[in-house]
Amino acid sequence: REPASFSNTIEAMERTGKLLDRVTTVYGIWSSTMNDDAFQKVEQEMEPKLAAFSDKITQNAALFARIEKVYKDPALKKMTPEQQRLAWKYYTNFVRAGAKLDQKSKDRMSQINQKLAGLFTEFSQNVLFDEMNDFLPLKTEDDMDGLPQSLIDAAKATVAAKDMDAAGAISNTRSSVDPFLTYSNRRDLREKAWKMFISRGDKGGTHDNNKLITEILQLRAERAKLLGFPTHAHWRLENAMAKTPERAMELMEAVWKPAIARVKEEVADMQELADRENAGIKIAPWDYRYYAEKVRKDKFDLDQNEVKQYLQLDKLREGMFWVAGELFGFRFTPVNNVPVYHPDVQVWEVTNLETGAHVGLWYFDAYAREGKRSGAWMNAYRNQERLDANVTTIVSNNSNFVKGKPGEPVLISWDDAETLFHEFGHALHGLSSNITYPSLSGTAVVRDYVEFPSQLLENWLSTPEVLGRFAL
Ligand SMILES: [Zn+2]
Repeated sequence: REPASFSNTIEAMERTGKLLDRVTTVYGIWSSTMNDDAFQKVEQEMEPKLAAFSDKITQNAALFARIEKVYKDPALKKMTPEQQRLAWKYYTNFVRAGAKLDQKSKDRMSQINQKLAGLFTEFSQNVLFDEMNDFLPLKTEDDMDGLPQSLIDAAKATVAAKDMDAAGAISNTRSSVDPFLTYSNRRDLREKAWKMFISRGDKGGTHDNNKLITEILQLRAERAKLLGFPTHAHWRLENAMAKTPERAMELMEAVWKPAIARVKEEVADMQELADRENAGIKIAPWDYRYYAEKVRKDKFDLDQNEVKQYLQLDKLREGMFWVAGELFGFRFTPVNNVPVYHPDVQVWEVTNLETGAHVGLWYFDAYAREGKRSGAWMNAYRNQERLDANVTTIVSNNSNFVKGKPGEPVLISWDDAETLFHEFGHALHGLSSNITYPSLSGTAVVRDYVEFPSQLLENWLSTPEVLGRFAL
């Protein structure tokens, strides 16, 4: 055997597992956006196996010895910054996964990781179960008092799709519950909707997550101890910018008191308004969105519904493309000759505005549907790299907008518009990737840095340049 070198060890590792990468990408799409009963069974079977497979690599003593040799070789200092970073990443990931432990501890680590993989799967499947199976029925038109037409339409469509005996129904997802809490004049139903959403996985019975949480925490604590860390938090932050839980807490504490003070001010404003209206209530969590809206109207004469008609999904998307053109020189052109996994998914080719060179593909899976997890996120289906050949990236944005009637524009709230720009910021991060090695590609940066580009780029939404052109 040749002695370990960067190219026969680190680069060789970068070249392995390409088929598995492709398969797990498809697996990830099913898991997060088309998660039905059949796929849940696949997840339950595969998650522990994938964890065991990963441990088998990081616990391979001969392999780790080679990585360690390359990492500690003084010659590494003469290599490119990217190569040094990559060697550091392999070494650190292996050590963090237990490569330096004795065999007995390695075996226990592997058991813990497989157990955790199963528990995480069970946890998210429980949440999804409650999101898919719980509804707030709206028995009569009275139950829809205050709701904007788009929400009434969606509530009626839900009843039709589920063949339910009610005038309408609110799904147990953020994109349905949040607008209901904002507009419903029915305080009794707001309380029900809020409690339904907040108790996902927390209602006792077979889909309750409380027991799983205890188990997860115990296993994480045990794993941290095995690896020589006082707590899971110490282990988790060691390779992040924050480094220690103390520093992370310092930041949290610095924000905490001013944030609480602000919440108290806002709730006091709400209470004052409720008292003025003789509502006879003490502001509760299910009143926050509703009264925040009223206070805004009262103080600034600003109505979210008035704002919403200016926020059309299609136009905002054009606005994001315009920003990407101005800042990064990207052009987005719709394409329909690439495969998609669901008819809702749309794809754009991204090219360089000046040279016309191909940069990548942008997949957009915009709408809520059964089996898709709540919220919004970005991921890469393929990483940019040029280790052996030039590989361009394929990135995706996923969100849960409620589809309007056919032919009508989809109107979204200001919060949703910010989220849209935020997630697109992650996509731009991925599309701007310019590296040699796949493991360092796109958003594969330290955990507490990855939100920086997206947090920064979301601010373009509120600029006159964007609103003046696209909020019409
Ligand atoms: Zn983010």
